[in-house]
Amino acid sequence: MLLGPGDHAPRDLNILVKQCYFSLIDAFFRITLSYEWVDHDVAPHDAFGGALEQFVHYRQGSTIITVSSVSDTSLFKAVLAAPSTADMVFMTPGKLCTFYPTLTLENNAILSSTGFLVEPEMSIGSVWSQCFHVYDDARFLTSECAPTCPSLWQNVRDDGSSLIVQWDHQYPLRNLLRKSHTIWRLTEACVNAHCKYCSIPGIRRSHLPHRQALIFKALLYAMAVMSPHVVPVHLQEGREHMECIDDLEVNFWVNTLARNKFVMPISRYRKTFHGIPDYPTLPLPYAYTIYHEDPQSLPPPNALMRDLFSRAGLDHGIKGNVLVIKHPKQDRNKVLDVTEGDLPLIHMLLDGGGLSKTLWNQFK
Ligand SMILES: [Zn+2]
Repeated sequence: MLLGPGDHAPRDLNILVKQCYFSLIDAFFRITLSYEWVDHDVAPHDAFGGALEQFVHYRQGSTIITVSSVSDTSLFKAVLAAPSTADMVFMTPGKLCTFYPTLTLENNAILSSTGFLVEPEMSIGSVWSQCFHVYDDARFLTSECAPTCPSLWQNVRDDGSSLIVQWDHQYPLRNLLRKSHTIWRLTEACVNAHCKYCSIPGIRRSHLPHRQALIFKALLYAMAVMSPHVVPVHLQEGREHMECIDDLEVNFWVNTLARNKFVMPISRYRKTFHGIPDYPTLPLPYAYTIYHEDPQSLPPPNALMRDLFSRAGLDHGIKGNVLVIKHPKQDRNKVLDVTEGDLPLIHMLLDGGGLSKTLWNQFK
């Protein structure tokens, strides 16, 4: 859709809907438009990384429509689970967006972590398509990868690396991107020798810039220690400035990547508090964000949390580490260092019965 129809007129259409709208669009194609089911409820290919729930083909004459449904609240997660960079593109009634415009406009594509699962006899999107040069990694570049390095986390809100074409202003897409908090990366390691994030031994050391000095202090409630510890939190690799809370690298302390290693809505594992739910009239001088681990990584129970807070009769039953970040009041996209003076307020926040209802209950 970004590069035009090519030599052949398009005859297939892929539509992505949320799970709750699937029956509506299914009835529209089969009853209103008289399309036939071709494959009903076949399993989506593994190249979509488990991001799709249902996957149905409809046909009328030579026209084929594929409808995929996603259970997750973020449609971007399904777009970013595509097998290559060239397929990370989508169109709404008023906009077109691509996350790798330079590569795509030059008919180049880099496979994502699941793109390798597409066999030559099964072309999916750009993979094995005649229209694209598809590469396993970024080695074909004769310069550094820059911010689009396959090994760096990308964020859908990064305006600099995405291209948005908008012809209908009714539903601004940028707001949707800004609120999404969906991040992804193509692979864990870069093998482009020109790239400063190259992971080939010897090359990386000579090119690696000094580690950025931007380090924040956060409070960690680790699973098997006697007391909470103040720990350093860096920015993600490739980030020099903090523009948004998503830029923090918290996975060293709290594993939020169990469900999907390469694409995730990062906001699922955190919640920011501007007040204490149990003491709504108590003014908080700062805001605090609490991160916890993905329960699908099956972490052990947090003995420290149990020892600290069970005396109040509240059994959080929290599993895994808990990390607390401090912000200026009402601005969670800035971070302040946690100090000893924050401990009483943070303990009041973690100990509250109100918190049990708003946060912990979801993750037991
Ligand atoms: Zn690179």
